[in-house]
Amino acid sequence: MSLPVHLNHVMMTHRCPQCRVGLARSGLWFRSIRAYHCAPCGAVVPMGYVEKVALFALHAPGKKNPA
Ligand SMILES: [Zn+2]
Repeated sequence: MSLPVHLNHVMMTHRCPQCRVGLARSGLWFRSIRAYHCAPCGAVVPMGYVEKVALFALHAPGKKNPA
């Protein structure tokens, strides 16, 4: 499974595994990073391929918005 290009401009929310605070960015932003720094708790949140596939699947059309 790959990351669908048509979701590049969809706003996605990824929850920090440490503090559960959601970070909202575009699909393109999540696609281009390998990790991000969570401002609320200071954790470095890794965004590997598995995490990206799960995030994109969550925001695919037809799925309920988790936010
Ligand atoms: Zn956090």
